[in-house]
Amino acid sequence: MFLHIDIDSFFASAERAVDPALCGIPMAVGSRSNLEIFERDRIDTKLMNDNSGAFVSPVFYTERQKSFEEYFVDTLRGERKIRGIITSASYEARACGVKTAMPIAQALQLCPSMVVIPSHYRLYHTLSQQLYRFMQQKIPLVEQYSIDEFFGDLSGWIEEERVHDFAMGLQKEIREHFSLPVSIGIAPTKWIAKLATETAKPYGVFEVKDIDAYIEKIPIEKFPGIGKGFQKRLKAHYISTLGEIKEQRKLFYSWKKPGIQLYKRVTGTDGEGIETVRGGRKSIGISRTFDPISEPEEIKRRIMVMARHIVYMVMDAGVNPTTYYLKINYEYGVKVKCSETVDRLFSEFLYKHYLEMMYEKIVLKGKRAVKLTLNVSNFTCEHTKTLSLLALDQDRDTHYLTEELQVLRKRFGLDIVKTANEL
Ligand SMILES: [Mg+2]
Repeated sequence: MFLHIDIDSFFASAERAVDPALCGIPMAVGSRSNLEIFERDRIDTKLMNDNSGAFVSPVFYTERQKSFEEYFVDTLRGERKIRGIITSASYEARACGVKTAMPIAQALQLCPSMVVIPSHYRLYHTLSQQLYRFMQQKIPLVEQYSIDEFFGDLSGWIEEERVHDFAMGLQKEIREHFSLPVSIGIAPTKWIAKLATETAKPYGVFEVKDIDAYIEKIPIEKFPGIGKGFQKRLKAHYISTLGEIKEQRKLFYSWKKPGIQLYKRVTGTDGEGIETVRGGRKSIGISRTFDPISEPEEIKRRIMVMARHIVYMVMDAGVNPTTYYLKINYEYGVKVKCSETVDRLFSEFLYKHYLEMMYEKIVLKGKRAVKLTLNVSNFTCEHTKTLSLLALDQDRDTHYLTEELQVLRKRFGLDIVKTANEL
């Protein structure tokens, strides 16, 4: 049998674990696009990458704790404006209609007594890691699926009729050790166990014995991995429940790999096991949303600031990306993007040089930018033949310099050294 363990409203619950005064009241954790990186003063940014798995994207943070006013409130020309979105809400807040991804200002209108706390990613990462280690002690095969979700395989370890009791015990122990509420789904397969957790929530344990009977009436959008695109496709075939998927074997098999995989997962015939080791990251990216900016110099400066953060992550991961991607979103849904494959040894100078060229190529003069996205992918190593030999000597020098900068930044914070195009 498989278990799927999911922490109930994780960030909100984590705050309660630290401050019990938050229990029993409507409360939520909120966050806003971290725009501190664009400040010109030193803010001593660090990268949180200690959660070694590839399942959680790295987060930049500063040690300084902020109050609600400091973090969420902007005062422009005397007008107080609450910014940011809800990332996790307690069930008391949800009862008022508060949802994840809702603007905080709107959530506070629905639930004026709600307490909103700025997110503390460091705390969440630490708790998540501790919980993972705890779970490894209890279950021989554990997979960390996301920051607050785990899969466990109990076959050959706990007899089937005892699995429910085992899960109840685990839930109790996690509550005692970590003050965290979890819900647990139990099923003969992984993805059905994950689905069962949704039925178990909040703070429940739910076991699926008969997969066919269980899935029959469940709407397709509940199933993990059926995104908006797939939903549209299924609706076009008048498929709205998982039970109806089961009836359409032929159709799904005609959709090749993604169709077949989905069909097997939904019907519990995928035979997928626990992945205890995750494949490394395939790309490294960062994006930022902000108030409209029209000055091309400022847009370019922000791209360079974000580039420095990418460089830091790349060097930290010890990879050599060869594809660079840049996207600029302007007001009113206008966007431009560009990607370059550069078969050279990665360095800050090379990367920023290419970004400048890419920016000049795609920039729309006179439009106001609202979002920037930078991404690097296609990792190779220095020894592969694909790297341009002509430039290799020169690239080695700049790569070496980037390594030196990395040492400094690791010690003194990411913003100890900036390049001229960021100033
Ligand atoms: Mg959760």
